Amino acid sequence: MRVDVVTLFPELFETFLKTSFVGRAMTGGQLTARFRSPRDFGLGKHKSVDDTPYGGGSGMVMRVDVMVACMEALDTEAEAAGLPRARRVLLTPQGTPFVQSIAARFSTTPAVMLICGRYEGFDERIRGFVDEEVSLGDFVMTGGEVAAMAMIEASVRLIPGVLGNEESTHEESHGEGGLLEYPHYTRPADFRGQGVPEVLASGNHAHIAAWRRAQSMERTRTRRPDLIEHVEAAVFEKLAKARKESAG
Ligand code: SAM
Repeated sequence: MRVDVVTLFPELFETFLKTSFVGRAMTGGQLTARFRSPRDFGLGKHKSVDDTPYGGGSGMVMRVDVMVACMEALDTEAEAAGLPRARRVLLTPQGTPFVQSIAARFSTTPAVMLICGRYEGFDERIRGFVDEEVSLGDFVMTGGEVAAMAMIEASVRLIPGVLGNEESTHEESHGEGGLLEYPHYTRPADFRGQGVPEVLASGNHAHIAAWRRAQSMERTRTRRPDLIEHVEAAVFEKLAKARKESAG
């Protein structure tokens, strides 16, 4: 997976890309990252990347000409190097909420361009130059960089071989089953009067699996009933498909 990042602050990514499994993915070649600052395409002696909003109002707006020049420079360099053109993703609190299925899609996309805004955000006309708009959640940060790091981390860990233990991504929350993960315990067996469920020390794998499945269901039902609806809809869909196939 290649990530092209459009950002005024590439230095924010330095430690992130060197640390833990993201760092290993970088050295192992499963992840490559390229950065370009809109400042390189800024105007005038101050290399301005923003301007005052038409119609007045507070704050500054990122200029579309500067942003698109930066995005196109990354594409031109990629093409010259024989690399695929990146899918352009605008980071904005107005975008589609980032969820595990988007992380999974990014992890199999050859190249993704994450476009980070600052100030009041982008000139509206940038929207005609991107493939999609994604939000990290229903809150507003001062820039897109933290959102970009979150999206890189969530996507890269789904690339086979990056975590070393693929099972852990299949069973976890928001995975293929659509449920929240069951609770985990490790030593000590007793912590300030709180023990560990007996079944986990029973050695009976079938019982442990059944307990974990029940815990997953219960946890999802109480914490995220909206997810249960999706799981049930998916089960009904599978059943209907199987019935249709067996009928004809
Ligand atoms: N004025 C904009 C609005 O109300 O929609 C918010 C601009 S925000 C202060 C500046 C930049 O931070 C945005 O252009 C975007 O790139 C980034 N950003 C802020 N919150 C974000 C979020 N929840 N998800 C993704 N990017 C975000």
